[in-house]
Amino acid sequence: MEHPENDEAYKGLVVNKGIEQPSTVNPYLKARPRTRRRELSVADYVEGILKGDVTILSRAVTLVESVRPEHQALAQEVIEKCLPHSGKSIRVGISGVPGAGKSTSIDVFGLHVLEQGGKLAVLAIDPSSERSKGSILGDKTRMEKLSVHPNSFIRPSPSAGSLGGVARKTRETIILCEAAGYDKIFVETVGVGQSETAVHSMVDFFLLIQLAGTGDELQGIKRGIMEMADGIVINKADGNNVEKAKLAATHFRNALHLFPAPESGWTPQVLTYSGFYGIGIAEIWKMIYDYIDFVKRNGYFEHRRNEQAKYWMYETINEHLRDSFYNNPKIADMLPRKELAVLSGGLTSFVAARQLLDAYFAEMK
Ligand code: GDP
Repeated sequence: MEHPENDEAYKGLVVNKGIEQPSTVNPYLKARPRTRRRELSVADYVEGILKGDVTILSRAVTLVESVRPEHQALAQEVIEKCLPHSGKSIRVGISGVPGAGKSTSIDVFGLHVLEQGGKLAVLAIDPSSERSKGSILGDKTRMEKLSVHPNSFIRPSPSAGSLGGVARKTRETIILCEAAGYDKIFVETVGVGQSETAVHSMVDFFLLIQLAGTGDELQGIKRGIMEMADGIVINKADGNNVEKAKLAATHFRNALHLFPAPESGWTPQVLTYSGFYGIGIAEIWKMIYDYIDFVKRNGYFEHRRNEQAKYWMYETINEHLRDSFYNNPKIADMLPRKELAVLSGGLTSFVAARQLLDAYFAEMK
């Protein structure tokens, strides 16, 4: 008997024979060998990028983000060839704590600048991905309208490596995007500290999004970030929040007076807006364009970009030296022992460091 339930004893209960379930894999689909994506040469990459081919641009960015040495070598060649075609954009850093309304605002800002023509790339630096592998900015597409706009290119934060490494990759991606004809670049970051410095070092205008009434407007940790800002914008100035936003703007204006005058000669402005309702957006962009005009005329634009180029040269040297040191097998072998010796009081930090460095330089000879 197939089903014991069909026994006389279970009268009234009939269990039907089940039907055969279809296979989860389509048996009619012919197994096709997976075609590997054709490897592209440096020339293929450069040609594709200069033509504005988004698929090739994305693949080039993937190379830039790759940790494999052969990818890195290829990426560096592509970047070098793209460099003469880069630089002709306006780069804007956008920062704010989670919930400040960055995604909502970038969506609206993006559509606003695209209305005037051109192409926009939105990149990000997310410091959280390094340690927790999670992200504060989030990977999912948060800019709903912008993400489907034909003239936008949105790329989430590179995730591997130190903040310096992540930032360097974003900076290299800027070069590729500019070579591909993107004349406006947004670099988004979360307003929690160090990552702002990295973003500040690669943009022409640093925009800080703030909220009214969070009580932390003038707190210490924000001071450093506020000092970097070329413009502060108070979001969510809508509904019964308008007055509070205006009050916060006054507080920020007063606070900015306490900082030393910026090197650019520009007085940072404070505006209120609503990203959600699209109020005050044009004013923000007028401020940014006014700034760009101003610093182009007084020479600060060039100066800032040169300083940034220098900064990234040293950053790259530092990063490579650090990698070379920590990836050296002898050092990797010695490190845990020296660390223990320091912890147990057998060696001072300085002596341990000296011994490790000496061992490293002896290896390098
Ligand atoms: P992010 O974490 O900085 O990217 O912030 P989001 O853009 O995700 O916004 C956080 C929350 O604030 C969301 O619920 C938004 O709908 C809301 N929000 C964003 N902009 C505004 C605004 O201008 N006015 C109001 N009232 N709410 C907003």
